[in-house]
Amino acid sequence: FLEIKQIKKSFGMGDSRIEVLKGIDLEIERGEFCVLLGPSGSGKSTLLNIIGGIDGADSGSITIDGERIEDMTEKKLSLYRRKHLGYIFQMYNLIPNLTVRENIEVGAYLSDKPLDVDELLHTLGIYEHQRKLPNQLSGGQQQRTAIGRAIVKNPDILLCDEPTGALDYNTSKDILRLIETVNQKYGNTIVMVTHNDAIKDMADRVVKLRDGMIRKNYTNEQKVPAMELEW
Ligand code: ATP
Ligand code: MG
Repeated sequence: FLEIKQIKKSFGMGDSRIEVLKGIDLEIERGEFCVLLGPSGSGKSTLLNIIGGIDGADSGSITIDGERIEDMTEKKLSLYRRKHLGYIFQMYNLIPNLTVRENIEVGAYLSDKPLDVDELLHTLGIYEHQRKLPNQLSGGQQQRTAIGRAIVKNPDILLCDEPTGALDYNTSKDILRLIETVNQKYGNTIVMVTHNDAIKDMADRVVKLRDGMIRKNYTNEQKVPAMELEW
């Protein structure tokens, strides 16, 4: 479903040029919950941005549901991103003068299969906060709202870059469980970077990046050894 083939990416020029991704190959099935691990600077965010069409690779290809994103025109890519991709970051980036409900509704923009917002607010556990503005919410509630905004279009792929990076351990666990619920309920394919060890019980696949290469690629049938979840 999501095919990543020989992705290479360098930054900088001349002597300061560094090859961040040195030929990444990865196949992810529809509905899979895939977690990317790796040391700081190993290229996790770079890879997510390339999958999401935010950044271009130097070479290689990303094929989603049979379509190569590098062959798309700017217009098609933009439409594709709005309809089929959801993004969650460490920063919530909510619109400050819109309510929780309105922030989520913004995410349905141009979608042809939006989820029911009332049902989603219940699933996210923020139904009773729907009229509040972002500055009236806790960090966890803000991230729930940001998840709602990303998921309301029912994206094929949900890309999550350290979604719990700004939250305490227990709130983080709740948010990861919520993303697991979303994955099971709506069947979205998830690619997530996280450092939270609670993820080991949730992921279908764990991929470890190091020095620009994939060093380990476990699926849950192979029972990820506990040691291997360290980074
Ligand atoms: P972290 O865990 O700290 O978020 P990461 O694995 O997400 O790290 P990336 O953000 O992908 O790492 O960065 C990988 C390398 O590429 C780093 O050395 C970084 O400095 C470099 N890099 C990333 N984006 C750019 C850019 N736009 N311009 C120049 N260098 C960049
Ligand atoms: Mg990063």
